[in-house]
Amino acid sequence: MDPFPCRGCSAELGPSTRRKAFISVFAQGDEETRSWYFCEPCRVWMIEEYTDRFMGGDSVRVQGPFPETACIDDVALAKTCPDPGDKWCECPAHQQLGNM
Ligand SMILES: [Zn+2]
Ligand SMILES: [Zn+2]
Repeated sequence: MDPFPCRGCSAELGPSTRRKAFISVFAQGDEETRSWYFCEPCRVWMIEEYTDRFMGGDSVRVQGPFPETACIDDVALAKTCPDPGDKWCECPAHQQLGNM
């Protein structure tokens, strides 16, 4: 996953070592990894959605910026998962975040 700019200040977010949380889920049969990045100067979240398509081809969608409070719950939830990279995990975080 490549670094991408914050849409508020153009500061570079990423690489993945700087992300605050991530989780891999199934979304309509495709594997999707959602990563949350927080831009300190802007106090906003940017969300990167990386989709590994079953039918072939990857895509990356970047969403945001979102206000600081908007993603707190999702990030806290994602952090409760013992293995966020395991899309087969059935913990509460995976169940809730997988339905988005
Ligand atoms: Zn920023
Ligand atoms: Zn889980």
